[in-house]
Amino acid sequence: MRQVIAGNWKMHGRPDDVSAYAAALAAAAPPATLLICPPFLLLERFAAALAGTDIALGAQDCHWAARGAHTGDIAAPMLAQAGASHVILGHSERRADHAESNAIVRAKAQAAIAAGLTPIICVGETEAERDAGEAADIVTTQLRHSLPDGFAGLIAYEPVWAIGTGRTPGADDITAMHATIRAALAAQLGEAGRALPILYGGSVKPDNAAAILALPEVGGALVGGASLQAADFLAIAASARGH
Ligand code: PEP
Repeated sequence: MRQVIAGNWKMHGRPDDVSAYAAALAAAAPPATLLICPPFLLLERFAAALAGTDIALGAQDCHWAARGAHTGDIAAPMLAQAGASHVILGHSERRADHAESNAIVRAKAQAAIAAGLTPIICVGETEAERDAGEAADIVTTQLRHSLPDGFAGLIAYEPVWAIGTGRTPGADDITAMHATIRAALAAQLGEAGRALPILYGGSVKPDNAAAILALPEVGGALVGGASLQAADFLAIAASARGH
């Protein structure tokens, strides 16, 4: 299966940035599936710029309701209509900034699936939890309570302490956690859980991408800071396993 290289622009980017970035991605032929997740405001512009390419478009969150009195929120059907096929849910910045619990993430995933979107559900431990030896328990608990029954999307393992810090876990730690996640998915979802892509996220850069993407059970990368420049994002994608 081709690895998935997903870019999370977070709260970066302006409408004027879209066309040159999209053109650079469209002109490349990396050995990976590309997915770009810009802020809501840029989705329609990206959808137009990427029309006719096989580059996928995702949002960074959605509400758990399909419509209603939720000032400032965005519903999953709106994202689908704007051209998104994917949505990141449960990113640690959402869990921290907006007090999103596993139950909220699960409800959002159900809403996303009902709207025809593929969720990318993020899990990961804090540094204190890792130091306390609790990382595997934290991550499996997040999976157990964040994934709806029959979940068929993607998982992103993102140790919170590696996001935006320039620090990454060692290869052995990534391998061990991805194996833990695979076992948890198989226990939770049966045969389907053996095939779901598990992305790694947390300070993936052009200079460490090849080593991370070569690890067992790493189905791709969720890339924050290094996705903002098309050249860096494409350099990461060029390191992917294309099979
Ligand atoms: C992220 O935001 O999901 C992320 C992994 O960020 P960064 O690559 O900047 O660590």
